[in-house]
Amino acid sequence: MIKTDILIIGAGPTGLFAVFEAGLLKLKCHLIDALPQPGGQCSEIYPKKPIYDIPGFPEVLAGDLVTNLMEQIKPFEPGFTLGERAQTIDKQGDGSFIVTTNKGTKHHAPVVVIAGGLGSFEPRKPPIANIAKFEDKGVAYIIREPEVYRDKKVVIAGGGDSALDWAIYLADVASEVSLVHRRNDFRGALDSVEKVEELSKIGKINLITNAEVTDLQGEDELKNVVITHKASASEKEIKETDYFIPLFGLSPKLGPIADWGLEIEKNAIKVDNAYDYQTNIPGVYAIGDVNTYPGKLKLILCGFHEAAIMCQSAYQRIFPDKKYVMKYTTVSGVSGFDGSKKEAKKEVVKSIN
Ligand SMILES: Cc1cc2nc3c(=O)[nH]c(=O)nc-3n(C[C@H](O)[C@H](O)[C@H](O)COP(=O)(O)OP(=O)(O)OC[C@H]3O[C@@H](n4cnc5c(N)ncnc54)[C@H](O)[C@@H]3O)c2cc1C
Repeated sequence: MIKTDILIIGAGPTGLFAVFEAGLLKLKCHLIDALPQPGGQCSEIYPKKPIYDIPGFPEVLAGDLVTNLMEQIKPFEPGFTLGERAQTIDKQGDGSFIVTTNKGTKHHAPVVVIAGGLGSFEPRKPPIANIAKFEDKGVAYIIREPEVYRDKKVVIAGGGDSALDWAIYLADVASEVSLVHRRNDFRGALDSVEKVEELSKIGKINLITNAEVTDLQGEDELKNVVITHKASASEKEIKETDYFIPLFGLSPKLGPIADWGLEIEKNAIKVDNAYDYQTNIPGVYAIGDVNTYPGKLKLILCGFHEAAIMCQSAYQRIFPDKKYVMKYTTVSGVSGFDGSKKEAKKEVVKSIN
């Protein structure tokens, strides 16, 4: 069981900044994210896009913003459960919560903060009737550890950047890479398309276009994919493979959180914005893109503001008898309100350098 003061669901920019604000109050945080890396939409959807409305940064790439946030929270040593979706929440007798992920990891905290953005990103799955049977038995929707595919036969499906980039990368890792796409034209970056075509010419990628994987075969593990060529639906190709990786993108869904008894309005969680961004369940807060209230703006800077307000309220909930006095970071250092200020400040400066 992982124990922490504030359990944050969602390691997007809002969840990450909440760690900093909580750290100033000496509250420990642990983050859960369904994605294998932190950064939410910034990392997953637009890491190379510049953002112009982060105060103090005339221009910053979304990916660099995430790197900076990770650097900023390093002194507070947050814990991470990545690649797992928060599935259930159980209120305990003392008012604390146990949150369990889809992989069974349990987390215990007096305060839960939902910073789930648009929801957890779920892979778009191809319409193959028996695909669920082979999930984690040869079928993967996200490549987490490319070394898994070393010297294996891999069939990738998709026509976007993700499919192209991984086909190029795995061409040097796997024993055989096939890329199946239902059209002749790819949607990805032109230089990636050219690279795939070059690798196809020298036999490092087996390029199969105008075709789809329509069936999977195997007993306990995946053995073959069945490829149907569009020009003639009766023309089916059976290809032996160790892995089938459809990379059709990710779509966000509020997912299991929608069943936690929270007040939901237009796919977002209603919160009390007059006070502290708490939901209708005391001790459960919602900040960032995932919440709604009159006048809500789905912007990163709004998530940062909500994180700061939420932490003050969470502090009072965790320590009802302690008096909280607001101080500036330049006065209090990052260690909060004790004598180790100078050392902690030095530590931050060191880690930023
Ligand atoms: C193309 C694009 C451009 C944008 N440009 C700007 C801009 O210029 N300026 C700006 O301010 N904003 C911009 N935005 C909006 C901005 O990205 C969002 O406001 C911001 O990402 C919200 O941050 P967040 O941390 O609240 O949520 P997110 O970034 O969505 O992160 C939420 C995280 O929660 C995780 N999660 C959700 N549910 C679960 C669960 N049950 N279990 C585990 N994990 C879960 C998700 O996997 C995700 O990683 C842009 C958005 C897009 C798509």
